[in-house]
Amino acid sequence: MEGIIFDIQRFSISDGPGIRTTVFLKGCSLKCIWCHNPESINSKKELQIVSHKCIGCGNCIAVCRNHGYEMIDEKKVYYKDRCQLCGECVSQCYSKSLQMSGKNMTVEEVMTEIRKDLTFYEDSNGGVTFSGGEPLLQSLFLKELLKKCQSEGIHTAVDTAGNVPFGSFMHIIDYTDLFLFDLKMMDREKHKKYTGAFNDLIHANLKKLVQLKKHVFIRIPVIPGINNSKEDMQKLIEFIKNLPIDLVELLPYHSLGGSKYESLAIPYELASLKTPTKEEMTEIGKWFKQANINVKVS
Ligand code: SF4
Ligand code: SF4
Repeated sequence: MEGIIFDIQRFSISDGPGIRTTVFLKGCSLKCIWCHNPESINSKKELQIVSHKCIGCGNCIAVCRNHGYEMIDEKKVYYKDRCQLCGECVSQCYSKSLQMSGKNMTVEEVMTEIRKDLTFYEDSNGGVTFSGGEPLLQSLFLKELLKKCQSEGIHTAVDTAGNVPFGSFMHIIDYTDLFLFDLKMMDREKHKKYTGAFNDLIHANLKKLVQLKKHVFIRIPVIPGINNSKEDMQKLIEFIKNLPIDLVELLPYHSLGGSKYESLAIPYELASLKTPTKEEMTEIGKWFKQANINVKVS
């Protein structure tokens, strides 16, 4: 069985307990305007063009059989509609200006990457985290990976935005030790505006997961001007405080994904937004503590 992966990061310390390998599956059912992995949203392969790395060698123009590039007024133009995503130009671009996002991998190929750091997982009580995108959009592939990890004694975590039918969770629930469950905001109209979907399904799925006594960490991205007001956070606190959640993690917005938007020719609406300060994050953390919620501020 194959899935589509856009990145595998080793030595991750922010995707669950201990030292972990994070496997990023491509494709998402939300489209959050602050997403720092815009290449995760489309479930298909995509060509990323990092213009400032181009040295003008012309290899890509010469090698493309589909006339994917043309020089117009001494400027190289890429025609997405002609591109067959064959990757020929990428293999001939030695400055790495061209990169293919998305790779088909088998379960065994992914496992080979995961097994490289077994000693670190054991020493740190870490493991593997499957993230995205939305990994549950590839739930059968994910199930095979999780099963394999568990059979080899590797702790498993799944990072989900929760916007999938609960049937997808049922495929993986027995093989997942920990869910990292993202919550953005309680206001459903606002949720629709900023993520492209209402939050009803997400909330229903979270409640079902905890009813089934799964270990859950909730992750909340703190986005200035969008969900960082006391009113927005209090609504989240009210929802969370009655659920048996192990931990809430507050993750400050950052703009490190900005260059990725440029490479995919997608407008980045939050380009000028500032990262919340440590003081602002600590203050928000206090609101959660006052409600007796176990909170970690990143
Ligand atoms: S192959 Fe790469 S470096 Fe050469 S012209 Fe094309 S994009 Fe630029
Ligand atoms: S990926 Fe293939 S089809 Fe697309 S521009 Fe490059 S060489 Fe041409």
